[in-house]
Amino acid sequence: MATRGTILLTGGAGFIGSHVAVEVAAAGWQPVILDSFCTSERSVVSRVGELVGAPVRCIEADIRDAPSMRAAFGSTPIHAVIHLAGLKAVGESVEKPALYHDNNVRGTEVLLAAMDEFGVRRMVFSSSCTVYGTPQRLPIDESHPLGAINPYGQTKLDIERMLDVWADAGPDRHVCSLRYFNPVGAHASARIGESPIGIPNNLMPFVVKVARGELPELGVFGGDWPTHDGTGVRDYIHVVDLARGHVAALERLDSMHHERINLGTGSGCSVLDVVRAFERVNGVKVPHGIRPRRPGDAAAAYADASLAWRRLGWRASLGLDDMVRDAWAFASRPS
Ligand code: NAD
Ligand code: UDP
Repeated sequence: MATRGTILLTGGAGFIGSHVAVEVAAAGWQPVILDSFCTSERSVVSRVGELVGAPVRCIEADIRDAPSMRAAFGSTPIHAVIHLAGLKAVGESVEKPALYHDNNVRGTEVLLAAMDEFGVRRMVFSSSCTVYGTPQRLPIDESHPLGAINPYGQTKLDIERMLDVWADAGPDRHVCSLRYFNPVGAHASARIGESPIGIPNNLMPFVVKVARGELPELGVFGGDWPTHDGTGVRDYIHVVDLARGHVAALERLDSMHHERINLGTGSGCSVLDVVRAFERVNGVKVPHGIRPRRPGDAAAAYADASLAWRRLGWRASLGLDDMVRDAWAFASRPS
């Protein structure tokens, strides 16, 4: 494997992290996965290794555990950290705000302390469009007002602010917070993808379970939104495009102090657009019915993705048909 340097991926065994690890390796860097496997499976690491064409090193550790983090940074020189580790279930964060703060915010503090101790000064952080709260204008650019509407979103805002302070501590520190819109899909090989535990909250995993017959029907949360067909509109982005956005950020990190950049396609699809594309591309039925609106939902949210193009030279290249095809291929893979 060619090596331009080692990139430590916290949360690298997760849905997004596993795809980022593959793209980081394809760009010639050496990925090292650090994960506690609290929401992912150990087998993902060997599947990433298969896709990369060589075994990928994995450190089993919790980012909140300072001795483990010191041991990780002490074991090999790290060029940069891509920090994806975190809990992300909005509903759970409402029930367990202290857990979310501890895992996501305190965990990042411990990680940054270990980076400081070992002189690692570059980070790409997994932020989220949830930092914009309820959209006040569309498309959403990076200057849109900020506001958390749940404890999960608050952790992302807290971490972005923490990264400002960390970056300000010296001119040689470089941070890029990538604000993801709605990542979906899977690697084209169908070897890695999204495997949520239990009944999914997010649209695409729910659609997949209905198509597989594991759930009887998709409830469409609202049919009277002010959108083109009355259903909620979001900016779905293929996880492989998203992963490539991380490589683009990594390549330009040294020109940044702390920048926040949206990763989205810049266009919105409704719930019915997703359902219809899924049925047409995959030749399966997704029974669905209109339900009341979900509390806290917005009619529409989609990115102004132009800063990513200007700063990173990156834009999404895969469309909704690719997303639904790859999500279904992963869900229907032989076990
Ligand atoms: P995921 O749950 O699949 O992956 C998260 C990974 O982090 C898991 O492998 C988990 O085991 C690990 N992890 C969690 N807490 C840890 C800890 N304390 N120490 C070590 N490892 C830990 O989720 P994902 O969808 O891949 O999300 C990755 C990141 O992207 C998260 O920070 C999430 O908040 C952010 N994000 C995700 C989405 C999305 O829709 N999937 C949208 C915006 C932002
Ligand atoms: N949605 C839906 N039924 C579901 C899950 C989601 O109609 O079972 C809708 C939701 O109201 C929103 C869109 O699908 O308009 C995307 O929801 P998701 O939770 O995936 O993302 P988020 O709302 O957090 O952007």
